[in-house]
Amino acid sequence: MLEVRNLHKKFGKKEVLKGINLDVHQGEVVVLLGPSGSGKTTFLRCLNFLERADQGQMTLDNQLIEVGKAKEKEILAHQRKTAMVFQNYELFQNKTAIENIAMPVMMAQKKSKEEAYQLATHLLEQVGLSERGNFYPSQLSGGQQQRIGIARALALNPKVILFDEPTSALDPELVGQVLTLLREIAETGATMVLVTHEMKFAYEVADKVVFMENGYVVEQGSPQEVFEHTKEERTKAFLSRFT
Ligand code: ATP
Repeated sequence: MLEVRNLHKKFGKKEVLKGINLDVHQGEVVVLLGPSGSGKTTFLRCLNFLERADQGQMTLDNQLIEVGKAKEKEILAHQRKTAMVFQNYELFQNKTAIENIAMPVMMAQKKSKEEAYQLATHLLEQVGLSERGNFYPSQLSGGQQQRIGIARALALNPKVILFDEPTSALDPELVGQVLTLLREIAETGATMVLVTHEMKFAYEVADKVVFMENGYVVEQGSPQEVFEHTKEERTKAFLSRFT
C-alpha cells in the first residue's frame, strides 16, 4: 500500500531524516515512537508533502514518486490519497463542525454540496457528535474538536490516514474517547500511521511499531517484538521511561 525508501530531509544544514524505509500494508496500523526531536512529525509530514523530503521514493497505491523530482501534479495526486489528523486539530474556527467536514470534500473531490453534507452527517454520527454539527470549534471540547478532525480525514476516503500525536493536546479525561474512536477506525480496516506516546494503545492496536531516533529507524516489528523482545539498547532506554 505505502512503501517508503531512503527518505532524507534536511532543514538548513540539520539532517532530520537520514534514510527512512518503511512498508505499510493495506489495513495495517503502524505506530511511530521515539524521543522528542527524532524526526517523527517531519517524517509524517513528508509522507503527504506538507514538507518536501529532499531525496527518496514513495509508492502509494502503486504510484511511485521520486520525492526530490516530483511534479506538482504527481504531488497533488499523492496528497489526495492521504489525510492528516493534527495534534492541535487545525479546524477552521469560523466554520461549523459539519462545514469543517463537508468543505474539503467539496473542494478536493468536487462532490456536490448535498452529497458532501450527507457524508458529513453520517460521519458526525460515527464519531458520536450528531448533536454538534452546527457548533463552532470554540464551542466544543478538545476531544470533540479532535473527533471532528478525524471525521474530516475519514470524509476524504484516503488510502492512508496519518495521525500526528492526536491525543497529546487533550486533557487526560478526554484522551480515552479519542483513543476509543481510533480503535474503532482501525477495526474498520483503515490503513493508519500514527505518531503517539500512548504505549498501551500502541501495544493493543498496532500491527507494527517503529522506533525512530535521531533521524533513523532503529528498530521495528510487532508490538510483542518491540515491547517484549526489544533488541536495541536505544529502544530499551526509551521504553524504560514508560514503565
Ligand atoms: P516531538 O516528539 O517533540 O514532536 P519529533 O520526533 O516529531 O519530536 P520533529 O518535530 O520531526 O521531531 O523534529 C525533528 C527535528 O527537526 C527537530 O530538531 C526540529 O527542531 C527540527 N525541525 C522540525 N521542523 C523544522 C522546520 N520547519 N525548520 C527547521 N527545523 C525543523
